[in-house]
Formats: sequence, C-alpha cells, structure tokens
Amino acid sequence: MIKKFEIVAPISSEDRRYMQLALLEADKAFSLGEVPVGAVVVAQGELVASAHNEVETLGQASAHAEMLALQRAAEALGGWRLTNCTLYTTLEPCAMCLGAIWLFRVARVVYAASDLRHGVLGSWLDLGAVQHPTHRVEIQGGLYRDEAAGRLKNFFRERRESGDSSEKPYFGTARQPGRATAREDACDGSCHSSPSNR
Ligand SMILES: [Zn+2]
Repeated sequence: MIKKFEIVAPISSEDRRYMQLALLEADKAFSLGEVPVGAVVVAQGELVASAHNEVETLGQASAHAEMLALQRAAEALGGWRLTNCTLYTTLEPCAMCLGAIWLFRVARVVYAASDLRHGVLGSWLDLGAVQHPTHRVEIQGGLYRDEAAGRLKNFFRERRESGDSSEKPYFGTARQPGRATAREDACDGSCHSSPSNR
C-alpha cells in the first residue's frame, strides 16, 4: 500500500542530497546516545540549517531535530517566516513539529521513516489531511525510509542489548480502519526520546 504522502514522482537529486545530510545528522545523534533523528532546512537550493535530536543532551522533550533546525534556519535567515524553505527530516513529524512547520510557514516537508506512535501525517493522526485556513504545506514521505528506519532499529537494538529493558517496541498494534498496519519502515515508537522517558 502506498502511504498517503509517499513519494511516487521522480525524486530530484537535490532531495536525495539533502535527505542524505539529514541522515548524517541522525548519525550524529546516534553517536551521542540520542535517538537518531536528523533534519536540515534548505532555502532556494541552499542549506541554511541542520540539526539532530538533542532531547537528552539539552534535557528538553521539545528538542526534536525539526524544532532545532527550524529555529536555526530562522536565525540564519533573519526572520521566522520560512516561506521559501523545505524541511528534510528523517522521521515523520510529531504534532509539535507539524505545529512548528505551520507556524514557521514552511513551504515543503520531505520526511523519511514513519512514526507509528507520534507521527501525525497519517501514522498516528492524519493532520496533513486537515486543511489549514491560510497556509499550505507540500508534504512528501518515504525518501530514504529504509535508511532512516534502519538507524532507529539499530539504536534500539543496541539499547536492548545493553540491558535497557524499558523499551517497548511499537510496530503498529494500534491500527486504524483503512490504514496500513504494521510497517517495518516505521520508527519503533520511541520517536525522539529515549524509551525510559516515555
Ligand atoms: Zn517532533
């Protein structure tokens, strides 16, 4: 089944390049013991910000890669209206991050893996189906999905092997009518935070 936002059109070399950079950010998070999620912001073909998940580092539940990347982009561009920007993120945005995407007026979002626990572009909720009264966001999902999901799986496997028994893998048991069910591409549910905190 093709997911609602799954990319079906030809993917541009630019999209691939910037999602690869987002994946490198996810790798940085992994090396720091953070759940491996990365994001970059591109404005008119130029990279303006990059970030990775820093929930544990900063001790902030809101320090998702997307939030940090958007804030840094606003600082780099000298304004919070990111109307010419594309956000590339390795994980389907959560409700907080999608709210920020709307508030920052982001033009386009490209994400990689799905997140069955927190994703709001069709996995948990489908806020992408709700038409915003004033702002339109182009959304595409699934680019480098396997690569992004693989990093998450490796991260949580390592945690399990190191004795963290608090993890609760989550592969789509809360199915909804008409939706794809358990997807091997999905985040295993801990999203941007360590399992012990959820
Ligand atoms: Zn988020």
